[in-house]
Amino acid sequence: MPTYDYKCRECGNRFSLFYKSYAAYDEAQPTCPNCESGALSRLITSVAIQSPTRDYTGMSSGEMLSVFESGDSRQVGEMFQQIGGTDPRLGKDYHDATESLLKGDSMDSVEKSLSEKQDKPKSGKKSDSTDAT
Ligand SMILES: [Zn+2]
Repeated sequence: MPTYDYKCRECGNRFSLFYKSYAAYDEAQPTCPNCESGALSRLITSVAIQSPTRDYTGMSSGEMLSVFESGDSRQVGEMFQQIGGTDPRLGKDYHDATESLLKGDSMDSVEKSLSEKQDKPKSGKKSDSTDAT
C-alpha cells in the first residue's frame, strides 16, 4: 500500500495519505486536511515496506552484538536464520528459537524457553551441583 507524505504550502501542515494502489494515487487529488488547500508538496519519505534483509553473514561480531543489543527479535531471528539456518548441527532448539524470533517473540521469552529446555533433566534426576565457578 503506497503511502505518501505531503506538506501543505498554504499552512505548512504535514500529513500522510494512504492509497489502496498506485492507480488510486494517480487519480487522487489530495488536499490539506487542515485548510483544504490543494497546494501540496510531496515529501520524499521511506516507503512503508519492509527494509531489505541485511546480510548478517558478512557482519563483524561487533555488529552482531549490536543487533542483539537492539532487542529487535525479528532482526535477531533473521540473523540466526542466515547464520545457522542451514546448519543441522545447531539442533532443533536453535531453529525453534529462530522461528520464535521471526514470529516476533521477545528475546527474553525465547531465551527463557531455551534455558528451560536445557535445564530439563533427561532422566528425571535433578542435579543441583554447579561447580562452574
Ligand atoms: Zn493546509
